Amino acid sequence: MVQTSGQHFLHIPGPSPIPDRILRAISAPIIDHRCEEFARLGRIVLDGIKTVFNTQHPVMIYPASGTGAWEAAIVNTLSPGDKVLMVETGHFAMQWRHMAEKWGIEVDLIPGDWRHPVNPQTIETRLHEDKSHSIKAVMVVHNETSIGATSAIDKVRKAIDGAHHPALLMVDTVSGLGSIEFRHDDWGVDVAVACSQKGLMMPPGLGIAALSPKALAASRQNKMPRSFWDWSDMIKANELGFFPSTPATNLLYGLREALTLMHEEGLSNVYARHKRLAAATRAAVRGWGLEILCLDEEAHSPVLTAVLMPEGHNADHFRQIALKSFDISLGMGLSKVAGKVFRIGHLGSCNDLLLMGALAGVEMSLKVAGVPHRAEGLIAARDHLTATLSCQV
Ligand SMILES: *Cc1c(COP(=O)(O)O)cnc(C)c1O
Repeated sequence: MVQTSGQHFLHIPGPSPIPDRILRAISAPIIDHRCEEFARLGRIVLDGIKTVFNTQHPVMIYPASGTGAWEAAIVNTLSPGDKVLMVETGHFAMQWRHMAEKWGIEVDLIPGDWRHPVNPQTIETRLHEDKSHSIKAVMVVHNETSIGATSAIDKVRKAIDGAHHPALLMVDTVSGLGSIEFRHDDWGVDVAVACSQKGLMMPPGLGIAALSPKALAASRQNKMPRSFWDWSDMIKANELGFFPSTPATNLLYGLREALTLMHEEGLSNVYARHKRLAAATRAAVRGWGLEILCLDEEAHSPVLTAVLMPEGHNADHFRQIALKSFDISLGMGLSKVAGKVFRIGHLGSCNDLLLMGALAGVEMSLKVAGVPHRAEGLIAARDHLTATLSCQV
């Protein structure tokens, strides 16, 4: 990296920047994970994380990334040969599908164009057709990080109930949790998968899963072999604040501090801040005359904005120029949209001036890279932020 002064602008949609208070909490001396002091920490984070999921039920915290928690969701609830319904919202939905197939799950996939969120109506129709109830779970991505679209999970629950279908509802909120309100119990979610390095403002290293009583019942009957991911061992140890094997102790210090930070701001304020910064980012993109990848206004993500490059311009080349010129990291286009889009992360520890700095980095890079645009993005974002200052609660 050429620039070493000031700060690096990390604007990928996860890992997100880590607040100093969290970094300092993580740097505390390690303690014995079988001692009473640890049990107090364990109980605080295991209870505290429930407030972010809005659940009364157990939440599992693994030393893993989000992908590990994806696997835990599958191996604890499904059996080889089971059928599930998934929706192709983008890269992450397809990755979860590939994982399910590797575990011998048959995936009924509702195809998508990578520009829209989940359509609950198509789910209801498929479930209606499944008279024999062969579909064991509906698995969807809450915030599809590859395209910047957020799906309405409450409406997916309504679609399942509308079809009077017993399928489990499993949700990837890996990039949603902590940035977008999640109501695990109210929405009737059975398994919700998350991680530490996105909305929770932590380093990577924790894979998280919230469960429902129905998911737990399924886990007592399913036939998939597992050991490390087994919920029953975890729940037994967690009841006393402990873990079956060595937990990521220092990341749990960090999680305790992250939860404190989020509650100091107020969860509803955290979510409102994300929405406001996202709207300012979209104003900037429109100001530049560029196109937002997600075509559904209602579904635009509070977490990140994916921007289509004009024809004939490569997004990865543009991102390289931005990094070299201004020390800003923008998110790359994944698989199907590689080279075609770049993504601006505005999640976690972000505020008006950090966002304006990032948007200035994008506008200046568009100029340096010779990408056709109008130099009106910053002005539009500024106008949005100043006009909505009073909305900041
Ligand atoms: C980041 C992400 C994942 C993968 O999480 P890892 O922590 O990288 O394993 C899964 N789903 C979504 C929606 C994501 O954004």
